[in-house]
Amino acid sequence: MRVVIIGNGPGGVELAKELSGEHEVLIIEREEVPFYSKPMLSHYIAGLIEREKLFPYPIDWYEGKGIGLRLGEEAKLIDRARKVLITDKGEYPYDILVIATGARAREPTVEGKEHLLTLRSIEDADRIKALLEEHGEALIVGGGFIGLELAGNLAKAGYGVKLIHRRDTFLGLDEELSGLIRERLGEAGVEFHLDAELLKADENGIQTSKGYIEGKVKICAIGIVPNVEIARRSGIQTGRGILIDDHFRTSAKDVYAIGDCAEYSGIICGTAKGATGHARVLANILRGKEDRYPFELRSSIFKFGDLPIAIIGKTRGDGEWIDGHTKAFFQDGKLVGAVVIGDIKRAFSIEKELKEELY
Ligand code: FAD
Repeated sequence: MRVVIIGNGPGGVELAKELSGEHEVLIIEREEVPFYSKPMLSHYIAGLIEREKLFPYPIDWYEGKGIGLRLGEEAKLIDRARKVLITDKGEYPYDILVIATGARAREPTVEGKEHLLTLRSIEDADRIKALLEEHGEALIVGGGFIGLELAGNLAKAGYGVKLIHRRDTFLGLDEELSGLIRERLGEAGVEFHLDAELLKADENGIQTSKGYIEGKVKICAIGIVPNVEIARRSGIQTGRGILIDDHFRTSAKDVYAIGDCAEYSGIICGTAKGATGHARVLANILRGKEDRYPFELRSSIFKFGDLPIAIIGKTRGDGEWIDGHTKAFFQDGKLVGAVVIGDIKRAFSIEKELKEELY
């Protein structure tokens, strides 16, 4: 069977790794570089790791696994009738096609947006790193996990960091947990500007609803936009992402979607952990095994500077500290979610417990 995968991010590469040896696998990727770790980009920008550490799989790794890789090639259209993927450089017949095109950073739309950078690719990271080394400080807009990771790592490396966020809580967490994040990053040197809306930007700073904040290097981390264009162009159903069922099937026969480009029941996964999880379950489904991805159980792990944090399941409502690291959330007496700070091993055991309860 010939499996063609569009996208060489964690979703695409994990699926290729799973299926290589069982099937003929080909990855089409529009970037020129082999797979790199996006979660490590802010560590690289901060100078905490070398650039080459971002690349766990060099070109000969793909060759060794027998995975075909076409870099610098953009998938343009799926000819569903002929079962052929058309790129800007050629045509590739498939038995199974997997769209793993990920997402891009949401661009700000305010006046002066040309003064704001975004972070998604290694190219973005190189640009931000060079500017940061010139100016020595950063102004980050957005208190999502990308903004917090970047803030934590830059502060850890000794850069001046200001973070503007439209709310006074983070990541949908309660005031206590958000306060803890603020306290730990504040101790590391991050200056917070909360409840402040981005209004416009210029060369020297940002005008917010709470006043003007100075900063030459301005990075906007205000969310993602799934890359659905190839699906849309090929007549496949899309919403915010490419619509899939619980077996990752799109509306087109033998065409699947995984990772940040896919939307299941209104949910976009948005994390590397989610994308690799999708890939592993899809590999089993393609092997004919019964498997199901726990879409309803959202679970992510981040590291904000020296602060590792895991957010698992439902974390709204009244929580209760069940040990020094874990705030657990219950509904009708049943555990439905937890936030684990500092002890990631504990997070894995809680995730397992929740999965067993749900499925
Ligand atoms: P992507 O990684 O977006 O890969 C998609 C690939 O498809 C890209 O390489 C793109 O070039 C390619 N592509 C798109 N369209 C085409 C086309 N038409 N033709 C050919 N190729 C195409 N997640 C975590 O779990 N933990 C973290 O700590 C964390 N930190 C992050 C920090 C940063 C700075 C960023 C940017 C992301 C972070 N994430 C983190 C999120 C995580 O990286 C993404 O959720 C994950 O990369 C999604 O994987 P994916 O395979 O779906 O898509």
